[in-house]
Amino acid sequence: MLKQEDSLWSKIQQQLSDEIPSAQFDAWVRPLKIKEDQYQLQIFVPNRFFLDAFKSRYAEQVKSLARQFSTSDINISFELDKYLLASPEPEKTVVPSNIAALPNKVHNKKNIDGFIDPRFTFENFIVGKSNEFCHAACQAILDAPGQVYNPLFIHGGVGLGKTHLIHAIANALHQGNNAHIAYRTSEQFTNELIAAIRKGGTEAFRQRYRKADILIIDDVQFWAKKRSTQEEFFHTFNCLYEERKQIIMTSDRLPSEIGHLEERVRSRFAWGLVADIQPPDLETRQAILVDKAEIAGVELQDDVALYISSKVTRNVRELEGALTRLNAHASLTGKEINLDFAKKVLQGLIVEEVENISIQVIQKRLVSFYGVSFENLVSKRRQKSIAFPRQVGMYAARKLSNVSMADIGAAFGNRDHTTVLYAIRKIEEEIKSSPIFAKEVERFLIFIRD
Ligand code: ADP
Ligand code: MG
Repeated sequence: MLKQEDSLWSKIQQQLSDEIPSAQFDAWVRPLKIKEDQYQLQIFVPNRFFLDAFKSRYAEQVKSLARQFSTSDINISFELDKYLLASPEPEKTVVPSNIAALPNKVHNKKNIDGFIDPRFTFENFIVGKSNEFCHAACQAILDAPGQVYNPLFIHGGVGLGKTHLIHAIANALHQGNNAHIAYRTSEQFTNELIAAIRKGGTEAFRQRYRKADILIIDDVQFWAKKRSTQEEFFHTFNCLYEERKQIIMTSDRLPSEIGHLEERVRSRFAWGLVADIQPPDLETRQAILVDKAEIAGVELQDDVALYISSKVTRNVRELEGALTRLNAHASLTGKEINLDFAKKVLQGLIVEEVENISIQVIQKRLVSFYGVSFENLVSKRRQKSIAFPRQVGMYAARKLSNVSMADIGAAFGNRDHTTVLYAIRKIEEEIKSSPIFAKEVERFLIFIRD
């Protein structure tokens, strides 16, 4: 028998906990179950979407650590945890759903109630770190609507692809089977309800939604304060949920952050899986831009794509806006789209994009980048291992946020603005004199923005 601390996995795990942020570690490494002997390491994961996402994120890292820590060639496999799948709520995963079992049928408009944009598909949705979790959850729903994640609650900032994803689900399900899909924006749902109440047709309204095998509601944050909508949705939800019909919602914030929401509704929002989409990182933005350009038939040189995606960072809709503008100017003037042209045309758009990252975010990033504790950062302590990251933080705050030196000083342990000024000068000089340090700071600034 291997002693626990000698096992290959415990070494890998130890190393992973150093290499990846703790939140990620908790989410991705802790749930794993392991079987190992001297020939093989079997890694069991809780479900399919986890499996796909885990493989794309960490498989290489795990394999390379295994090679590093084991003397012999070891066989590594990633597998579904069958026990987990079958055990806690067997009915949920074992009983086939009436939807999944429906026979394949070609497009049948009657089965869609609501407008689904055919352009929003999985094929043209670019997956990156910022959205892979959510994307995987959506994919899992395709395989077994009503069974795996019910409801699915997608949240994320404006223009990050929430609507795209739920339309993609509807498009894919629509092609695959005969399920009855109802799609509404939250406002449409509310307006219909109001009209139904006015005309005394609430029963018909109810029946219409309760017929759905899949109910999709976009932007439910608008239901804050709308009591009768919440009440009606509550009953519809219960009814569909009991029949194992799939419910999917999006929101620009978490259920807990939506104000004026009845508690019982809030709790139902979060009953299934709450999946978030984060703003895309640089690589993903670039990939999206290149893809969108291709769809639009616009030729984008690499340096232009990089320029736009490094400047337009907030959301994908703005990225598309930049492309549209560029394309329009190019076709109107007949000029070639090169870097100079792009800079000129996008001037207005990009100048507005003043960075303003909060000091709190910068401090959090300092903690994980330099491994210094928050308490030390804001303390009076002056030893180099603490004072130095603190100075880098002040410098970063000056560069990336719109706050005064006095505010920066206050946030870093009530220091006055001359201390901040001193810190910034010092870091600037250091950057000039040491290219290695300059690189480090550059990496840190990218890490903050990412
Ligand atoms: P949200 O509903 O989150 O506000 P949308 O789904 O409307 O955002 O997305 C805004 C635009 O960005 C859409 O045109 C969508 O196609 C595009 N988009 C967002 N994320 C992606 C992605 N990962 N890949 C391709 N296009 C994307
Ligand atoms: Mg939307």
